[in-house]
Amino acid sequence: MHKAIVPKYLQEFRCDGQKCPDNCCEGTWTIFVDEPHYKRVKRVTDTEIKPIIDQYYKRNRSNPTKESFGKLLQDKQKNSCAFLTEDKLCRLQAKLGPEYLCNVCMLYPRRTNFIKGLPIERSLSLSCPLAAELVLLNEAGLEFEETTLDLHGRDFFTKRIDLDAVNAKRQDLAYFMELRAFSVQIIKTRDLELWKRLVILGMFYNKVQEYLDANEAEKIPEEIERYTRMIVQGMFNELLDEIPVESVLQMKLSKEIIEHKVFSGSNEGFSKAFWNFLQGIGFDLKDTDEENATRYQEAYQQWYQPFMQSREYILENYLVNYAFSRMFPLTEEDSPLSSYAMLIVHFAMIKMLLIGNAAFHKEAFTESHIIEILQKFVKAVEHNPKFVDFIYKQLKKNDFLSMAHMAILIRN
Ligand code: SF4
Repeated sequence: MHKAIVPKYLQEFRCDGQKCPDNCCEGTWTIFVDEPHYKRVKRVTDTEIKPIIDQYYKRNRSNPTKESFGKLLQDKQKNSCAFLTEDKLCRLQAKLGPEYLCNVCMLYPRRTNFIKGLPIERSLSLSCPLAAELVLLNEAGLEFEETTLDLHGRDFFTKRIDLDAVNAKRQDLAYFMELRAFSVQIIKTRDLELWKRLVILGMFYNKVQEYLDANEAEKIPEEIERYTRMIVQGMFNELLDEIPVESVLQMKLSKEIIEHKVFSGSNEGFSKAFWNFLQGIGFDLKDTDEENATRYQEAYQQWYQPFMQSREYILENYLVNYAFSRMFPLTEEDSPLSSYAMLIVHFAMIKMLLIGNAAFHKEAFTESHIIEILQKFVKAVEHNPKFVDFIYKQLKKNDFLSMAHMAILIRN
């Protein structure tokens, strides 16, 4: 048994492939198979299963690791896993038992992170619709607990970190646990509107970056205390209200990034959310950016804001889950400020899609639409490291990694 920190929702999760609206065994993917399970499956002699194994289990010849030793290919005709039965069950598991499932199939949608010397961490990926519903609709907010986990010999980690080693490049990581806990605390400060919490988080990381640039990382704990006091005393409120609303830039950047994803290939649900967004705000190529942005802002005022103001906890839960499972502010390797920028870009893209979709569905817009959009977003964006890298390069190229630009993306 291993000591672990997990969100409390974890124990409530149950996969139900038969009820699932976006079964992970369907769609386009290739699954990497770890070496022990690849070899075990390849030894199977069962006459019903063996032909499927021979056809769809292949060696991975491009930079294989222990975890990506083999590949489970998709059945292109069925557009699903070849082992998926008509009643949405796994034939491999049913016939041979779960010990034949590779690590990815066995553990999804769980993400398990290993931080050397600390309890392991496990959470759920919101690319699974049932996980998304469970996590996002938790009105009371996400809570964490210490527990123990039996890995059943499956020591397969989404992220494996030795903080001492990364700390040589990133001095802030001497305070990784404090920084992440404080970030989650700010994101959960419900006395403030969500956009204000995110701007405060950015101001804080701006300060952290200044300390790092001056080789003064030891001042970080003091800064956490100072920000905690200032938030309690309500010292940010007036300052934040002065931040201007810049819809043109906000919509332009988020739209460009999402457009790239849609045109370079993404899941159907994600593309649908994008087209609904365009239709919802009445986007017209013939109009100027200002005209389109005016309609975008109107959609925000008329449809998004009235619906979302009592449901900010949904986006809060998304952000808390992101911060925990992706080990924020270690999401980007180069600096905490870059990690913050990426968090904000994810938030801005989701918000933009929701604004357009709220205007598209009008009175019929419901929480189910939000869950579906977020789940498709995570599936299309967060599961695609190349695309995340593209976003980061775009931000850098356009000199967008500053606090001023981040504030523009946050506020409507
Ligand atoms: S997406 Fe989630 S609920 Fe659906 S089959 Fe996969 S693990 Fe189960």
